[in-house]
Amino acid sequence: MRAEELKENLTNVENRVQEACKRAGRARDEVTLIAVSKTKPVEDLQVIYDCGIRDFGENKVQELTGKIPEMNEDIDWHLIGHLQRNKVKYIVDKVKLIHSVDSYRLAEEINIQAKKKGVIVPILIEVNAANEATKFGVKLEETLQLCEEISHLDSVHIMGLMTIAPNVVVSEENRAIFHKIKALSVDIASQNIDNVDMEILSMGMTNDFEVAIEEGATHVRVGTAIFGERNYSLN
Ligand SMILES: *Cc1c(COP(=O)(O)O)cnc(C)c1O
Repeated sequence: MRAEELKENLTNVENRVQEACKRAGRARDEVTLIAVSKTKPVEDLQVIYDCGIRDFGENKVQELTGKIPEMNEDIDWHLIGHLQRNKVKYIVDKVKLIHSVDSYRLAEEINIQAKKKGVIVPILIEVNAANEATKFGVKLEETLQLCEEISHLDSVHIMGLMTIAPNVVVSEENRAIFHKIKALSVDIASQNIDNVDMEILSMGMTNDFEVAIEEGATHVRVGTAIFGERNYSLN
């Protein structure tokens, strides 16, 4: 049965999150588990919701805005995928956090749309930690400057950093990258920039969330380990 399978997956992930917190000497409530539900039907999301999860992550604006009215109102939605400027207006007042800001121009558009809706939008700066050509995100060495520039936009609020680590087989291989991102966030925090917080570190996915927690992640984005493999050909 699908529901039983999902519940078992979630229990398994939750246990692994708890074990990683324990190893790192961190309290469980320092880490938010975001269930990444892209490509999955709302019936699947509902099972996970009924288990107590309130944070869901989607990477496409259209899919996100389609699912929001179908689901409970107390969900915290996270936009985790690349965001195009012309789509910003559909989501600024609907999401808890935008994880994927990697340019001033995008932040500027979020600021404009946020003002129109009378909201302040919490965002993360996406860092391309391994400098992969195939990935979005700002370079490590350019992150501080981007934070400074965006800090002047008064309807967006930088809450921290996000990274998508390389897709490796052995999660240990990503430890150094997570460590680097944590160090960068500590460094930026020490600059005490107005309107910039470094409370959130969104890093770690199915293949490496335990290592990410050990290295300081406050938000892990887990899809496959909860919902199973994604079948893109159905979409
Ligand atoms: C799909 C996705 C995830 C989840 O990936 P899994 O490997 O299935 O856990 C996390 N973060 C982002 C940005 C994603 O697009």
